[in-house]
Amino acid sequence: MTRTVYVNGDYLPEHEAKVSVFDRGFLMADGVYEVTSVLGGKLIDFEGHAKRLERSLHELQIRKPMEDDALLEIHRELVARNEIEDGMIYLQVTRGAPGDRDFAFPPAETEPTVVLFTQSKPGLAESPQAETGIKVISIPDIRWGRRDIKTVQLLYPSMGKMMAKAAGVDDAWMVEDDHVTEGTSNNAYIVKGNTIITRQLGNEILHGITRAAVLRFAQEAQMKVEERAFTIEEAKQADEAFITSASTFVMPVVEIDGMTLGEGVPGPVASRLREIYIEESRRAAL
Ligand code: PLP
Repeated sequence: MTRTVYVNGDYLPEHEAKVSVFDRGFLMADGVYEVTSVLGGKLIDFEGHAKRLERSLHELQIRKPMEDDALLEIHRELVARNEIEDGMIYLQVTRGAPGDRDFAFPPAETEPTVVLFTQSKPGLAESPQAETGIKVISIPDIRWGRRDIKTVQLLYPSMGKMMAKAAGVDDAWMVEDDHVTEGTSNNAYIVKGNTIITRQLGNEILHGITRAAVLRFAQEAQMKVEERAFTIEEAKQADEAFITSASTFVMPVVEIDGMTLGEGVPGPVASRLREIYIEESRRAAL
């Protein structure tokens, strides 16, 4: 089956879907994105992703291309056309293609470019990695200062993933001023006793949609949550660690910079939060 993608109002076979070479996303990484998971053919946390998209667009003064209900309709149409049971929907909005290259923003009437496509991942919620946990290394965080905006400037996170791969592990946690900011494409947490510790919101990290949901569920389950920065040294001494993102949900971390955490297997807090998150998200899916 050929994948159908959405480009600027049209549903097209993927090989027919095209964007201009003058698109600001291509030339300047002048665009933002969202990734929404699909479980059982339904969208997880759609409203959170739509709200963050609006905020990212606003922060960069990119025109919001359509209302949330129209966006929801496109997501649903792509899920149906591509018969997605489990997987992800990628959405990108750029400042458009003004027909030439210029550092200055194009005229306000330039139409934003809107692209959406699906990625099928059967059994997304039953990842074998969740049974064993993942290993991470630490790397310096040299990204720009507005990481709260979900831009498509992903070169350094992509390089970080490759550094992790070269070190024989799964991901990298980025460190700035001795404190962990986040993973290459996820938020980072440690657990000490019954307390979950994760960096406070600010311009230094992306405000994860999964993070918000998981912290809410943790509090409802009477777990203690501390939103503060922590060092890699503190993380290595923690009882447990984990990451969250739309595509990995809650994923246990069992090794940091070669140091095994606890017994080297997923801890009870991370495992329980994963269960709760998947169960509650399925229940609320649209
Ligand atoms: N932090 C970064 C840098 C990310 O790229 C992502 C997701 O792509 C996250 C955190 C997690 O955000 P969410 O839970 O909304 O997927």
